Amino acid sequence: MLSLRTTHGLRANEGLPVDAASYNFREMELHKKELPPIGTNAYCLTDSNRGEAIVIDAPEGGFAWASAIAKGAGCKIVALILTHGHWDHMLDAADFDAAGIPILLHEADRELLERPECMRDYTLPGIELRNAKISRWLQAGETLELLGRSMEVRPVPGHCPGNVLIYCAEGKLAFVGDAIFAGSMGRYDLPGGDLDQLEHSIRTQVYTLPEDTVLYSGHGPSTSVGAEKAGNPYVRP
Ligand SMILES: [Zn+2]
Ligand SMILES: [Zn+2]
Repeated sequence: MLSLRTTHGLRANEGLPVDAASYNFREMELHKKELPPIGTNAYCLTDSNRGEAIVIDAPEGGFAWASAIAKGAGCKIVALILTHGHWDHMLDAADFDAAGIPILLHEADRELLERPECMRDYTLPGIELRNAKISRWLQAGETLELLGRSMEVRPVPGHCPGNVLIYCAEGKLAFVGDAIFAGSMGRYDLPGGDLDQLEHSIRTQVYTLPEDTVLYSGHGPSTSVGAEKAGNPYVRP
């Protein structure tokens, strides 16, 4: 049974656009938390049977939050996947690194990681950008085996060069970073962004997923492929 938790406790149907009953697959649980400083979502997928967890994105406080979730579920965090290399999604990556947790990021965002000063105009005053070591550079189209499930890495550039979508067919869910939001789409005016590319990514990589796939974005509520194809005002199928 997959359920969605916040720090306020179990809210099985919170934000889910389809019947939560469709989420019963092998003992995987999804936890979500919006974190500072600009309201970026962190996700933690736990599998108590395997004793393993993975974390998607690392905003400020993400390491402490995910560590507590994993511990509570009797799980060890086996990977941190960064959906892309923007600072608000990896403020805590150095803490995962220090704890020996492998970090995965698409190679097209290597420059964002190694030259964070290129985003200086877009960060907040006083934000400390700490370097983290990437253990594995993701390739578009590869399939990761995590928590005993296949997770497909789909490229969705346009918000930035290395934004990826992590698709778990078994869970009928995808983590999409900042490519698409419920009723909206990502910015394309940041370094490396491109509107045409972003629209193309959404049409070819997001809208081609099964309609009942739940999309978990880097900001805001979850949505589904079907809901966005039907109603997203920015990118029509
Ligand atoms: Zn971003
Ligand atoms: Zn973001």
